Amino acid sequence: MTDAVVRAQQAVAEMDISEGVAELEGTAGRVEVDDKRMINCRADLNQLVPFKYDWAWQKYLDGCANHWMPQEVNMNADLALWKKEDGLTDDERRIVKRNLGFFSTADSLVANNLVLAIYRLITNPECRQYILRQSFEEAIHTHAYQYCIESLGMDEGEIFNMYQEIPSVAKKAQWGIEYTREISDPAFTTGTPETDKALLQNLIAFYCVLEGIFFYCGFTQILSMGRRNKMTGVAEQFQYILRDESMHVNFGVDVINQIKLENPQLWDQQMRDKATQMILEGTELEIQYARDTMPRGVLGMNAAMMEEYLQFIANRRLTQLGLPEQFKGVTNPFPWMSEIMDLRKEKNFFETRVTEYQVGGALSWD
Ligand code: FE
Repeated sequence: MTDAVVRAQQAVAEMDISEGVAELEGTAGRVEVDDKRMINCRADLNQLVPFKYDWAWQKYLDGCANHWMPQEVNMNADLALWKKEDGLTDDERRIVKRNLGFFSTADSLVANNLVLAIYRLITNPECRQYILRQSFEEAIHTHAYQYCIESLGMDEGEIFNMYQEIPSVAKKAQWGIEYTREISDPAFTTGTPETDKALLQNLIAFYCVLEGIFFYCGFTQILSMGRRNKMTGVAEQFQYILRDESMHVNFGVDVINQIKLENPQLWDQQMRDKATQMILEGTELEIQYARDTMPRGVLGMNAAMMEEYLQFIANRRLTQLGLPEQFKGVTNPFPWMSEIMDLRKEKNFFETRVTEYQVGGALSWD
């Protein structure tokens, strides 16, 4: 036996588990459901069960059942169309480029916010389990944009720097960054009304505005392209991403509403006004983005139709948070969008190759 093995065996023999338990001071012992809280929880966060928030666990399971990878999508037809001189109009090319530019940065901002801020501050293990799943999905989304950019042979520098160089993209990115600054500080903790409200604002900014509004003009444009049999590989990637993202939004809304329920003092008039203002600012930024990406009518839509769609989405976000609608009488000009969001993988909209992870879940050991 080498000296190193002896030293390792000695160290294990001398271990004292009471030290670890003492470190969890005040949190040791078996966790009861009633001990669990969304924020500022004192119970041990390593005990996943008993579940208190079944909706969070269910979303984790649903997210896993929807697993996909960008390389599964064939990009050959897209490349041929992209390279063909008159394959797409200038307006259509602008839409593809702007959206890859915005989304490649946006999903990375969301991932950083999740991992560097939200995960630490949400003090519930079943929610954290979903946040880990969501974080991986954000990585897959960034991978998907990179895969599209690479497959089409685009100028990577141009696309990945749009969030600094193109005003309608930069403003949206900047708006999100403002709300992550305070809570991404490693020294930031919740526990006071001000800091708890800062976390709540971040959750509204990232789940309801970034993922809940800023993605919708681009998704609609790219999916509309796919419906017209153009850039079907890019459109299929966006379809999977949209399905993931609508679950991210629903999870975020549940988290925000649960925090409100457990901490009603945080949801005062000032906070309600702030939340409304944030959603309306997000809507205005997205309307500007729609005008910039669609200076003319294209793909059977135009900026005015998109404006109404975004007002419809904004009303929906306000309602989800229990706030009054701000745009009276608007309707959804793109009802096919909600159909796409609800599609399961086996009913692939673009009828390309289907991989069903759900049935591949059981391992065989023989
Ligand atoms: Fe997301």
